[in-house]
Amino acid sequence: MEKALPSPDISPRPGLDAFQDARAIIRLTQCSICSLPLRSPRTLPCGNSLCHKCMPECYIRQNISYPSVVGRREGFSCPFPDCRKEHSAADCNLDVTLAKVMEVVDKELGSQTRFPEDTALEVVVNVDCTGGYEERKRRMYGGRLAAIYALSKQGELYYDEDATCTPLVGDNFGPSYLDYDALERLMDKARADLECQVCYGMLLDPVTTYCGHTFCRGCLERVLDHSRHCPSCRRLMHLPSILPAQSSNKRLTELLVGLCPEALSQRALAGAMESMAGNGDGGLSTPIFVCTASYPGMPTPLHVFEPRYRLMVRRACESGARKFGMLLPNRTGAPQGDLGVTPFMQYGTMLQIEEINMYPDGRSDVWTVGVSRFRVKRWGIRDEYIVADVERVDDIPIIEEEAIEALETALCLSAAQEVHASWMGLPTQTLLHIGHQFVDQMQAISAPWLHENNILAFGQRPDDPALFPYWLASVLPVTETEKYRLLCSTSVRERLQIVVGWIKKIETHRW
Ligand SMILES: [Zn+2]
Ligand SMILES: [Zn+2]
Ligand SMILES: [Zn+2]
Ligand SMILES: [Zn+2]
Repeated sequence: MEKALPSPDISPRPGLDAFQDARAIIRLTQCSICSLPLRSPRTLPCGNSLCHKCMPECYIRQNISYPSVVGRREGFSCPFPDCRKEHSAADCNLDVTLAKVMEVVDKELGSQTRFPEDTALEVVVNVDCTGGYEERKRRMYGGRLAAIYALSKQGELYYDEDATCTPLVGDNFGPSYLDYDALERLMDKARADLECQVCYGMLLDPVTTYCGHTFCRGCLERVLDHSRHCPSCRRLMHLPSILPAQSSNKRLTELLVGLCPEALSQRALAGAMESMAGNGDGGLSTPIFVCTASYPGMPTPLHVFEPRYRLMVRRACESGARKFGMLLPNRTGAPQGDLGVTPFMQYGTMLQIEEINMYPDGRSDVWTVGVSRFRVKRWGIRDEYIVADVERVDDIPIIEEEAIEALETALCLSAAQEVHASWMGLPTQTLLHIGHQFVDQMQAISAPWLHENNILAFGQRPDDPALFPYWLASVLPVTETEKYRLLCSTSVRERLQIVVGWIKKIETHRW
């Protein structure tokens, strides 16, 4: 027994050397919970990864009705010290990329039997025990990487333990070429798995969807502008609402930074150049149309006749982006947050131009559809129309949405339901149901706002609770002020509460 050693530095580092940093490289393949090589890895919403069998046991989360997806009610509290939050089991599928990389690693390093006797080395692990440390010595083969990996696979090397290797045969430097060769072969085989299926470049700031597929953060952002489906498996992603807050995949980031730092910095440089090219106006790159309330997923047909907007629409088309922002006019002169008083309201919707019909005199009919909401951060004037630096506005993560519902419905159950706005405490699905019922009743009495022209333009009432309020606000004659409330809300539940508020007012003839 000797005195305790200082605990080894296990923080991830860039540019790992196959020979010098063999221990750190193998740590990238170990589960920090069970210390074995990651098996059927799951990456949690916080970006931490663990084996499937290391997932904590689930319990049933209470008072949650939205989203009513199978499995979302089952949750567990996160075992990672930097998180400790509650995750929904449905958000933790097999991490496809990490699983493939682990397969390659095991194929390259997993078998000790194929190495000849002259590659023998002694691996010494300093084992922490009460009052000091002991040494665990093992005779292994095939270079440091293979030896240390095999040791971890045998369950004889904890995640935070250090290991030193001494060659038992041959020269004092040890067979370092074995490690350089092994890592090169490994990276050759893993490279394709570490590519993004959107841009086919090396993953840059990898984000893993809840279906377990990984893309560059920037690529996923662009995909989400058009679609809510995973580019790999086409499953519906709950991500649109949460992307900015979504953690990067920590393990894949460490692997990429540790093992291919050069490829990565080249990718980052290319990405920065690309985004700079789109910012010619000192960041005021979004042209703005001040006119009406538009919503994501809903069409906004426009008749463009003012010369400044003709120019703006033509430029939007020529630039290839075919997008502009739609804001409501600020009719009351109300201050708009840190912008002060502006001619427009601060929150709006980005519109994608679908089709354009030009008249010979320069006027045009433009068909657009809303893609995402945004907030104006800075603005200016360019050739008489407004240009702005905008920030995407997304809904809060589903897990927070669920927490709010659980809290509000629990409060409602305990308090007497005589409160003025008693519907505020109803389950989210019930709020949606009230909305649907209202529309069905109005349809039965042929309410004029459900005229077939409106249905042709905006479609039948959507079942998706995230879209239903946008649809209702598009067809129902409500004031601009009320319509604007939906644009500022970042919670599906809150938007449903707003529209049920409208319905209650209409039903009691207070509107
Ligand atoms: Zn977590
Ligand atoms: Zn594990
Ligand atoms: Zn990409
Ligand atoms: Zn997917």
